[in-house]
Amino acid sequence: MTTQNNPLLQEFDHAPFSKIENKHFKPAIIKAIEMAREEINAIATNADEATFPYTIETLEFSGEKLDRVTSIFFNLNSAETNEDIQQIAQEVSPLLSEFRNDIILNKALFEKVKSVYNKKDQLDLNTEQKTLLDRKYKAFSRNGANLPIEKQNELRDIDKKLSKSSLDFGQNVLAETNKFELHLTDENDLKGLPESFNEEAAQAAASKEKEGWIFTLEYPSYLPFMKYAENRELRKKMALAFGSKGFHGDELDNQENVLQIAKLRYQRAQLLGYKTHAHFVLEERMAETPEKVNSFLEEILEKAKPAAEREFKELENFAKDLDGIDQLQKWDAAFYSEKLKQKLFNLDDEKLKPYFKLENVIDGVFTVAQKLYGLSFKEVFDVDKYHEDVKTYQVLDENNKEMALFYADFHPRPGKRDGAWMTGYKSQYKKDGEEERPHISIVCNFTKPSKKQPSLLTFNEVTTLFHEFGHALHGMLGDTEYPSLSGANVYWDFVELPSQLLENWCYEEEALQLFAKHYETGEVIPMELIQKIKESANFQEGMATVRQLSFGMLDLSWHGVDPSAITDVKANEDNAFERTKLFPNVAENCMSTAFSHIFQGGYSAGYYSYKWAEVLDADTFEYFQQNGIFSREVANKFKTNILSQGGTDHPMTLYKKFRGKEPKPDALLKRAGLIEK
Ligand SMILES: [Zn+2]
Repeated sequence: MTTQNNPLLQEFDHAPFSKIENKHFKPAIIKAIEMAREEINAIATNADEATFPYTIETLEFSGEKLDRVTSIFFNLNSAETNEDIQQIAQEVSPLLSEFRNDIILNKALFEKVKSVYNKKDQLDLNTEQKTLLDRKYKAFSRNGANLPIEKQNELRDIDKKLSKSSLDFGQNVLAETNKFELHLTDENDLKGLPESFNEEAAQAAASKEKEGWIFTLEYPSYLPFMKYAENRELRKKMALAFGSKGFHGDELDNQENVLQIAKLRYQRAQLLGYKTHAHFVLEERMAETPEKVNSFLEEILEKAKPAAEREFKELENFAKDLDGIDQLQKWDAAFYSEKLKQKLFNLDDEKLKPYFKLENVIDGVFTVAQKLYGLSFKEVFDVDKYHEDVKTYQVLDENNKEMALFYADFHPRPGKRDGAWMTGYKSQYKKDGEEERPHISIVCNFTKPSKKQPSLLTFNEVTTLFHEFGHALHGMLGDTEYPSLSGANVYWDFVELPSQLLENWCYEEEALQLFAKHYETGEVIPMELIQKIKESANFQEGMATVRQLSFGMLDLSWHGVDPSAITDVKANEDNAFERTKLFPNVAENCMSTAFSHIFQGGYSAGYYSYKWAEVLDADTFEYFQQNGIFSREVANKFKTNILSQGGTDHPMTLYKKFRGKEPKPDALLKRAGLIEK
């Protein structure tokens, strides 16, 4: 196939979905890599002295074709995939990582970047340019570019071992999950479980040509079982199996992997000149240092612990009164919490759903964006889509300037992965005096309309839509020079601020009145239902907070220290959990051996981010509340200092410009009902 008839290799603004066939992807990616390589080689081999515009900016804008083609490809692999696309992904992924590795290892290129970096103070760069230079330099230095060759080889060796251990870790967790099944044949054992859930369990059994019902350790099976199953012995059996993944002393045991990964990460950090792995990671986070993360976790623990203990006592008493439980165990937590919640709030999705017709909620989120930022959304029908369910909108500001193209893909179908996310098909940037506006997309899995009923969202789906739309606003309102610093390209512990912030409007009467109307009668959602939603959102918030903190502390117990003295995984974990413990310790369980977030995924030394982001969004929303939730003044400050700025400056600097001070956890603690308002 030639370049000429591959639509991905032609010039395009909107992704040309209707012209793209699967056969176009691989050749386009190979060609785009080749183009990017040429661009980069030209920078690296240029005989002239390295300069900011030539070296750094050209590097920033290199590989544009590759970015556009791969964003289309990988977005489709998530939202509309099939076996062909998955096969192509297998084939192109190694090519792409090889390409990225070659850049990082390109010595001539690094020397160019470094020479600009070394004279950065004489260059009269603005903040965004300084940030770009810093990021480009660190991309090399944090991968060992400054080390002598034998140390570089040592680093590659560590990286190889690390990826092997992480892979083994993940495979063991997966194998442990798949190995276990709870096979029931006596209908009495199903007591308490919802009918539809049992049907799925029966199907799972039937597909294995077995009688009865099969429950597994996968979340969609495990969580409802723990919440509803009345048989305490069976809950215990499930919990022990779930909690001992990778901790059986057999060939799937992960204790060695945990120790190994922690040690390798520490060695890697030391080699690069950092005190610990956490110091290395946090250098590029808003929180900056492990010391700061520690004191953050400690401060919240101190405030949340009394509430958690109170809630635990309440749960204990409830279980005792109801079933005579003398010693509340971990496998009782979800079950009695659910019963207590029902008793206190009696709030179920079916009561709320009629007020949240999808079209109304979309109008609602658009209206909120209009009131805050003056944006309007016009559905357009002349833009290519990858599926007929996708809706496309032109996003305009108050002066009718086109801010973004917005794709919204709401319903599940085969070929779409679970969950909800925001992504993009084109970055925002400015180049040669021309401004390019972004193409932003959100993808969700909301219930489809039926012949009888429109799509009615659960409250959780409503907050999900607001959440993803908050990310989308970050992208749409980007106003930066450089694509790699635009929109949601910010430090990890800062990226959830715009999204979590917008969820707050879902709990406000003033906002709900705009869109939460009964789909048949048009009646606005009653205030007492809103009140109940708020109260139930805070149910057991103390216990949930302490639990989250405990995971952050466990994470740092592995990554914020020199781990070479640790020999006993379980003992280290018990020690880390000591001050957050509510339930009796279970000797046969271990969390670290299945803590994929930090030992397999990218959250090492980052688990605290969940709470950190909540502190930011609560602190921001309090500012709105003080001035009115639709205050244009506060919204403008937020847009000018945060949303439009992307990653152009340190998040703490941006935040202080917006808020006038550093974030404090008080607003979060108040909102969660953990301290007095
Ligand atoms: Zn998010």
